[in-house]
Amino acid sequence: MISEEEARSKVLDRIQPLPARRVPISHALGSFAAEDYFARLPLPNFDNSAMDGYAVVASSCRKGERLRVIGEQSAGLDSQLSISPGEAVRIFTGAPMPRGADAVVMQEDVSREGDAIVLNVDVDPGDFVRRRGCDLAEGQKVLAKGERVRPATIALLASQGFTDMTVGGDVKAAIISTGDELVKPGEKIKPGQIYESNSVLLQGLLHRCGTSVKSAEHCRDQRESLIEAIKRGIKNHILVITGGVSVGEHDLVQATLRSLGAKIDIWRVAIKPGKPFLFGQIGKCAVFGLPGNPVSAFITFLQFVRPAVLKMMGASTGELDLKVSAELAVDLRNESDRPHYVRGRLENGKFSPVGRQESHALFGLSQSNALLRLGVGEARSGGESVGVQLFD
Ligand code: AMP
Ligand code: MG
Repeated sequence: MISEEEARSKVLDRIQPLPARRVPISHALGSFAAEDYFARLPLPNFDNSAMDGYAVVASSCRKGERLRVIGEQSAGLDSQLSISPGEAVRIFTGAPMPRGADAVVMQEDVSREGDAIVLNVDVDPGDFVRRRGCDLAEGQKVLAKGERVRPATIALLASQGFTDMTVGGDVKAAIISTGDELVKPGEKIKPGQIYESNSVLLQGLLHRCGTSVKSAEHCRDQRESLIEAIKRGIKNHILVITGGVSVGEHDLVQATLRSLGAKIDIWRVAIKPGKPFLFGQIGKCAVFGLPGNPVSAFITFLQFVRPAVLKMMGASTGELDLKVSAELAVDLRNESDRPHYVRGRLENGKFSPVGRQESHALFGLSQSNALLRLGVGEARSGGESVGVQLFD
């Protein structure tokens, strides 16, 4: 049995980023930038009004002052107006500032009298003007290689006129669930059988990573059907198998993988839950064997599969980190011989364990949003500051 850290670095050593690809920015959501991006334009691109109102010269604007309205500038093409002290230009949000104007008075703060306005407030230079480049300077980095593309990232690139971009590879994944006791939801369940729930769990987790799940199939604990399912699964970049990776007579995954020529790099890791975790390769496909217990599958996914998938997708190491700090609500101690991932809820900065801390306890997991890792023998007291992995 190897340590969790050793297992993770072994997995990450074996995994290489996929080749980058060019996509329309509207298709880039959830991918990772494959190069640095820099601002082509400052933001804002020109001085403009932050309000509907009147552009003015602040030095001629005291409360009670009367100004002549000499024209109008709406958002859009610059009419190239210019004003002098004592004059005003009707202006709208986002419209370019007229030459000579250095402030905007909100329309709510003036009284309109024919082609003049009377100011109900004093005006300072810069009032309600969005200065060119105040948000972003030309040439400034807007997106770093390896950073996740989020909705606002796409908006920022669009604001720079980009139509497409280079992102990391599209990871294709297959899932196989194993177990004679498992029945597909929707079908009739007989005594002793349970509904199969890991494949939808893994689909959701892979989806969250930004991976395309190409297939999810169920397989009996039977060598021939497992061979056929694995042969189909390894046509993808990664294959995630759940169940059947332990040591019972019905746990056929490891032997079947070996019979297909798999190189098994890892089997059994000091982690609780999740000990029977397996990692290997068949040809170019990375194969993960996760324990069948739902919580074990979840935790080993987060600790080993997620970092591997994100590396394949071209994520920077910073993007792998889920850690946030929290105040621990109760005393906790890890009495087991393996590091323990405690499921819990992080709310208002406080982490409290939730539900039964056993590997089959799916309800508790469903109520959790964070994990606290306790090393062997580690004890933490309520009120202490701890780092937790926030997964939701
Ligand atoms: P295994 O790893 O195959 O020994 O399974 C361990 C436990 O997890 C058993 O109680 C299984 O019934 C359960 N289990 C295995 N696979 C799944 C699955 N896909 N969905 C729900 N429970 C499962
Ligand atoms: Mg099984």
